[in-house]
Amino acid sequence: MKINFSTATFKDFENIPEYDMMQRADAYYDFLEYMKTNGHHHYRLQNNTGCSSVMNVGVENITKEFVSFVTSDYLGFTQHPKVKQAAIEGVEKYGTGTAATPLIGGYYSYHNELEAKIASFFGRTQDEAVIFTTGYTANSATLQILLQKEDIAIIDMAVHASVYEGCILTNRKTFPHNNLVALEQILKTSENQYRTKLVVIDGVYSQDGDTAPIEEIYKLVKRYNGYLMIDDVHGVGILGKTGRGTIEDTGLLDKIDIITGTFSKTFGNLGGYVIANKSLTNFIRFQSRQQIFSATTPPSTTTGIIKAIELIDEEPYWRTKLWDNINYFKKGLDDLGLDTGTTRSAVIPVKIGDPHITGDVGRLLMEHGVYTNPIIYPAVARKDARIRMSVTATHEREHLDKTLNAFEDINKKLHIAKK
Ligand code: PMP
Repeated sequence: MKINFSTATFKDFENIPEYDMMQRADAYYDFLEYMKTNGHHHYRLQNNTGCSSVMNVGVENITKEFVSFVTSDYLGFTQHPKVKQAAIEGVEKYGTGTAATPLIGGYYSYHNELEAKIASFFGRTQDEAVIFTTGYTANSATLQILLQKEDIAIIDMAVHASVYEGCILTNRKTFPHNNLVALEQILKTSENQYRTKLVVIDGVYSQDGDTAPIEEIYKLVKRYNGYLMIDDVHGVGILGKTGRGTIEDTGLLDKIDIITGTFSKTFGNLGGYVIANKSLTNFIRFQSRQQIFSATTPPSTTTGIIKAIELIDEEPYWRTKLWDNINYFKKGLDDLGLDTGTTRSAVIPVKIGDPHITGDVGRLLMEHGVYTNPIIYPAVARKDARIRMSVTATHEREHLDKTLNAFEDINKKLHIAKK
């Protein structure tokens, strides 16, 4: 089989029936070389500075300064002097690694401190949190260990890949995004058919930046004797009266069965967590394969996160600045007639539809010194390509204005405005 590189997408290399793994890897290698030779090297971009709203980015030795919207460093904590200091002190006090998995000696006092800190952040007791090496494993490992073949995961189709991965070995049904009628239908038919019914949703959806109708979903789930798990990685630190995330203002923080999150976005670091009652967290802690067979966060990361959690309350200024930026930027895009969809968070899409035009917009934005993510299938539906941007507290007005001017200019050429 010969793959036509000029029309191929990454997805075409997942499975080529007549190629074994090495042949498939070779074909993929040639495809990447073709992409590079033909100027499509967006995927190879390397950031040559630290994480920031202004980044020096490039391909190999060609680098340039860009205003960046590609990171989820929402509050700018990857560069906060107090977070850095706490990380340095972590290394000095405890060294660089854990050198064992949590269950066989790799669980240290700083892990215990972090679990206490993140649990109390959500108004829970210390034993109601368990930490993981990433947000991805917090989701996938939790689902893998809690659900068996007699159970079912009922998931919003727009949830993160880590949730899909966690459901590989169990029964899974998806409902159209935020569609309560469809969810109720599945709950009804599942009620007597499966032992555990676990509904999984995101607080904030990562591609549209919109939020889940949590109160309505919670009521439905409980009406049909199910459990509710919410991944709120893009909500925590941003939404809610005190930054506790999408759930906070619903008053259900102490009622949601399982809350999962990451330390790689708002908290500016690496790691994940699960908040649940102490039976569930203990079960996950002692049964999940990732806790038994894989090491968790090193000292610098853990002590840095502990400080970042404290800063959410100590320096609410960052959240205020983030929201000033979100509101200013979204209004600017809307005023240009661009379609920002239903976002209610720091994730702001400019919906374009056609994947080729979206690619062109991404390239032209880079020519204007603006670094964004063009998102196409399979990350979103085929006709739903968009430019995805994450606004942060460290963007300055000049960065946002420069980007709005770039969009205005590109719209004159490519007519991407919907209004
Ligand atoms: N859930 C969602 C909704 C995400 O967007 C992400 C990260 N892209 C994750 C989970 C995984 O988080 P982490 O990067 O910590 O593995």
